[in-house]
Amino acid sequence: MEVKGKAALKEFRKKATMVFQDPYSSLNPRMTVADIIAEPLDVHKLYATKEERRERVLELMSYVGLNSEHANRYAHEFSGGQRQRIGIARSLAINPEFIVCDEPVSALDVSIQAQVINMFDELQDKLGLTYLFIAHDLLVVRHISDRIAVMYLGKMMEMGPAEEIYSHPLHPYSQSLISAVPIPDPVIARENKRIVLTGDIPSPLNAPSGCPFRTRCIHATEQCAESMPEFKEVAPNHFVACHRVSEVN
Ligand code: SF4
Repeated sequence: MEVKGKAALKEFRKKATMVFQDPYSSLNPRMTVADIIAEPLDVHKLYATKEERRERVLELMSYVGLNSEHANRYAHEFSGGQRQRIGIARSLAINPEFIVCDEPVSALDVSIQAQVINMFDELQDKLGLTYLFIAHDLLVVRHISDRIAVMYLGKMMEMGPAEEIYSHPLHPYSQSLISAVPIPDPVIARENKRIVLTGDIPSPLNAPSGCPFRTRCIHATEQCAESMPEFKEVAPNHFVACHRVSEVN
């Protein structure tokens, strides 16, 4: 979907929202939970009466497992996981079709992460949502995704169906990432060869010429320094940016 011009942007904002990474700084400490969740309703004027506003807030709170007693309290009174629930309820207020989730569980305790991820799953089924889920934790990515895009220095390296990316990653960078995913079965884990990358990630302000991954890629050739590989479809719905994709696989 292309969003061009102010009118299109306004329409897009009625369909798309965001859940932020840090549930501590993304909620206004001076507002009650009810007012935080109702803010998008106020901005887009999505209710006719105060009663309608209140009912909608309570409905949104119930979606994320908060109860009506929480409505008049302040965000600082809640744990990280509950704060993230408040943020998610706020993101649902406009009945969005699309939510950008920017590392929404990385700031939470590991014990809480699974609960919040499961809630994302349930809300997706219930409300028919599409997520753009940004994460570094590959187990989380695998659990939540239908399609995965792997990025390096801000450039798309590979994109495809989640299971295909996990079972047959084609880009050398994806291959190293997937090889590092912990495997619960000790027999399979012993056979799994981890691909360890050497060197540091270059600064995005001073990215290498050609393929951005070339300074850490064991398959790099001169061609890789000369030009950025095209992001090509190599199998149905599976795209890779690598000059040597057929040779390294
Ligand atoms: S284009 Fe070259 S450097 Fe980049 S991933 Fe492919 S082989 Fe490695």
